[in-house]
Amino acid sequence: MDAVSILTLPQLFATGRARHIASSVIDIVGGRTYSSWGLWREVARTVDALDALDVHVGDRVLVQCEKSVAVLVTYLACVHHGAVFLPLNTAYTDVEAQWIVDDATPSLVIRDPSRLMLRGAHRSMSLDAAGHGSWTDAAAVAPGGSGELSVLGANGRRGHDLAALLYTSGTTGRPKGAMLTQNNLASNAVVLTECWGFEPTDRLLHMLPIFHAHGLFVAINTTLAAGASMVWLPRFDTDAVFASLPNVTVVMGVPTHYTRMLADPRLTEQSSARVRLFVSGSAPLLQSTHEAFEARTQHKIVERYGMTETVMLTSNPLSGDRRAGTVGPALPGVELRIVNDAGRTLGTGDVGAVEVRGPNVFSGYWNRPDLNATEFAPDGFFRTGDVGMLDADRYLWLIGRAKDLIITGGLNVYPIEVEEVLDAFPGVAESAVIGLPDPDFGEAVTAVLVGKPGEAFDTESLRDAARERLAVFKVPKRFLIVDSLPRNAMGKVEKAKLREMFGRAEGDSS
Ligand code: AMP
Repeated sequence: MDAVSILTLPQLFATGRARHIASSVIDIVGGRTYSSWGLWREVARTVDALDALDVHVGDRVLVQCEKSVAVLVTYLACVHHGAVFLPLNTAYTDVEAQWIVDDATPSLVIRDPSRLMLRGAHRSMSLDAAGHGSWTDAAAVAPGGSGELSVLGANGRRGHDLAALLYTSGTTGRPKGAMLTQNNLASNAVVLTECWGFEPTDRLLHMLPIFHAHGLFVAINTTLAAGASMVWLPRFDTDAVFASLPNVTVVMGVPTHYTRMLADPRLTEQSSARVRLFVSGSAPLLQSTHEAFEARTQHKIVERYGMTETVMLTSNPLSGDRRAGTVGPALPGVELRIVNDAGRTLGTGDVGAVEVRGPNVFSGYWNRPDLNATEFAPDGFFRTGDVGMLDADRYLWLIGRAKDLIITGGLNVYPIEVEEVLDAFPGVAESAVIGLPDPDFGEAVTAVLVGKPGEAFDTESLRDAARERLAVFKVPKRFLIVDSLPRNAMGKVEKAKLREMFGRAEGDSS
């Protein structure tokens, strides 16, 4: 095992703190500024609060709150304390959150005060979008709440300790918890810091949500590891983005952010002159977007590829050929292969399943020995579910998604989860949920429905029913009604055929 793979996040962040030079580490646009000392003092206090609440090493701390520095502080406190940080997408409904609470059995649940209490043996605390609530009150008065930074150093964390549990939607319709260790996250942050040339002088525009690996690990761990700083937006907002561009050197976004920036005349070579690096990921960046962005700004967006279970796997190079339409070569330390159905490794130019191994790859799904047996090859490679091809220079081209995942505005929707809700609606015989190209969202969730003979149903009530059960980004944007679904000889619905049939169709039959 090399030096990188045994690093922990506290060690990594301590190095970053020592290198930090800017007067602030976080500047909230239109709000508070945090010095490095001030941020880490709050983290130290919050470590004390976890102790005072009897949260033990290995206990899960579930957080479902709007993006705020208080949530970031909670994450940092957990990884120092030894508690396992479990961030939940704020769009998840109470039904979805309850399912995850039952599965993960956290000892502490922190949610927005507008949310219902969830059942379970945990302690519940509140935290609102402004960072106020019983949780921050507890941190302020924690016994020993000295904010002594020394608690951050002497913490006894080990590389193989679980640091975070991130739920990602499953093909079975139920989200599954990906177990990420200190080592997975720290080793990936070191590699990204080096590959993307992060320095203490860098200032990142942070506009991504922090319940997801992209905004939480890729953006934050990398910045803090390098001793760099952030300009912080609660969410993507075009005006705020253009106001912030002159003050930042790095921008990380999903393709939707780049298409929105491109749609604005304020995106010019001058307005982006201070930025040294634009990074895109989480969903495919169209070649046309890459090219239009370069023509307008002279910047070639660096596209990278990763997933919740593995953090980052590949990236186009900082210096070298950044190729539109590819996600670049494997990052240092990541082994990546393309295999056929029989598990045989394929050669240059052959299309097959993408499998990966490395210090960044998660240690398995929480409570799911069944999946851990099938999703890893016998030699430890993880089956990503993505389909791709390596070219002669070992750049990865992603071709599709074996698991029919839909990515809408950078967020994942597994069709089966939506189909289960639609199929249960009176009058619906069956449904197939597909992603159709959408200029704004990348893909729009679309439901293709077959009605029961002689029974009518109304798509408006169906939409309402879906809204009650599903996070808003999973609710279909269009409902299309057909007489029957196309099926192959094995009885499987042919989604590719549906995408072909409706991909170019205009209008909305709902
Ligand atoms: P998540 O677990 O939410 O990060 O989603 C991971 C999935 O997003 C991957 O398995 C890919 O299918 C997809 N993905 C991530 N980055 C890219 C990219 N640059 N291009 C295409 N798909 C991507």
